[in-house]
Amino acid sequence: MTDATRVLVLNSGSSSVKFQLIDMADGSRPAVGIVERIGESTGRIEYRPQHGGTRSTERPFPDHSAALEAVSAELAADGLGLDSPELAAIGHRVVHGGTTFTAPTVITDKMVEELRELVPLAPLHNPANITGIEVARRLRPDLPQVAVFDTAFHATMPEYAARYAIDRETADRFSVRRYGFHGTSHQYVSRRTAQLLGRAPESVNVIVLHLGNGASASAVAGGVCVDTSMGLTPLEGLVMGTRSGDLDPAILLHLHRVAGMSVDEIDVLLNRRSGLLGLCGDNDMREIARRMGEGDAAAQLAFDVYVHRLKKYVGAYLAVLGRVDAIAFTAGVGENSAAVREAAMSGLENLGIEVDSVRNAVRGSSPRLISTEDSRVAIAVVPTDEELEIAGQTFNLVRQHAS
Ligand code: AMP
Repeated sequence: MTDATRVLVLNSGSSSVKFQLIDMADGSRPAVGIVERIGESTGRIEYRPQHGGTRSTERPFPDHSAALEAVSAELAADGLGLDSPELAAIGHRVVHGGTTFTAPTVITDKMVEELRELVPLAPLHNPANITGIEVARRLRPDLPQVAVFDTAFHATMPEYAARYAIDRETADRFSVRRYGFHGTSHQYVSRRTAQLLGRAPESVNVIVLHLGNGASASAVAGGVCVDTSMGLTPLEGLVMGTRSGDLDPAILLHLHRVAGMSVDEIDVLLNRRSGLLGLCGDNDMREIARRMGEGDAAAQLAFDVYVHRLKKYVGAYLAVLGRVDAIAFTAGVGENSAAVREAAMSGLENLGIEVDSVRNAVRGSSPRLISTEDSRVAIAVVPTDEELEIAGQTFNLVRQHAS
């Protein structure tokens, strides 16, 4: 093993590739950026080197190959190219690992074939992830590459939490079970929360609330996930920016039979036209807060529905875990909206959960406590860092393989 310590993290979506070059020796990020609007007539690459001076170029990127070649060229211009001896590995974010991949996995031809078999579980995400992997392997066939799965952290859920109460044979035949998503975030944030408390992750029970445009909650006992709110797909659970979260499943039947909606129309309704957007026309919590300030009733209702669902999950996970040491808020809404945090925790004083409103109002970019001194359960804001988690898992696995 050389002393290469850098990992290139790639998050390949259907029309974008996000990248971060992370040095595991000191956690620094020599370069980060994004290629957007891949396949459209005008695309854009934004490249931010650590030493400053963002470079942004508009030009078409016909496919992921062109996009990754552009990333490679930008990195090379700074002496950070894919052939740099300091590059230890590439870590790919992959959304769905099914029951096949429950841990970070070194990418091989056989592994990519197995990954392809999982496409029906995540038809919108996994194909783009696989394309990113294929292009990166073509550019650097000799470099170790690792897939880190959004589902993997939740693979420890006990069978009774992962099972839907439907006919077992049908469920097994079509891989219908709860997988959960945002796993790298839940893993990173639960561990970071233990650190914030000055305790070993194995001794701490945490409820993690990942509240971004997509949102999910998880119950983590001693560093191990025991339940999470997303299921077969990221549609289940909390109210999100544009997704409904939990529903009576018969609503789908009703919309089909009574409203005459097709399966595709229902898919669009629930994934893209529901949640906060469906309730009030806005999916951004900042805009909703602004409208609430003006007395807007629809925005207020959207906020209330969002917070009510969140509170129900906190209550459920208090019961699942039995003893809870900390509740951690993360992602765009969780890290930034003091109003959501305050509302979600209000009325829980009898359960030993008490927000300090002064601490809660302080903005910041590092992990911090927002509970009162008397609160039995610590309440924390812990900025997530999925790229660092992917880089760390990639680096550790590559080192293990080399030794
Ligand atoms: P994420 O998916 O983690 O990037 O989160 C994106 C969401 O975070 C946005 O849609 C907003 O709803 C929310 N958000 C970002 N900044 C703020 C803020 N300052 N206050 C409230 N919500 C915010």
